[in-house]
Amino acid sequence: MITITYRRNKCIGCNYCTEIAPQRWQMSKKDGKSNLIGSKDKKGFWTIKVPNDELDMNERAAASCPVKVIEVRV
Ligand code: SF4
Repeated sequence: MITITYRRNKCIGCNYCTEIAPQRWQMSKKDGKSNLIGSKDKKGFWTIKVPNDELDMNERAAASCPVKVIEVRV
């Protein structure tokens, strides 16, 4: 399993992560920020554990994020 952590309040809504990893990221119609699908909020750090086969796309999503609010840990 890998862990994805996301500081959602810093998201600028650029849409890159949702284009790269649409299975795990989706833009919110409410506030224009991205949602990390299935994650839980821990004091502003949205976190989820996902299977290893999601590593590549989420690492690419993290690398593409202009404000670097996505962290992927193996
Ligand atoms: S790439 Fe970063 S800033 Fe852009 S929508 Fe995703 S989390 Fe937000």
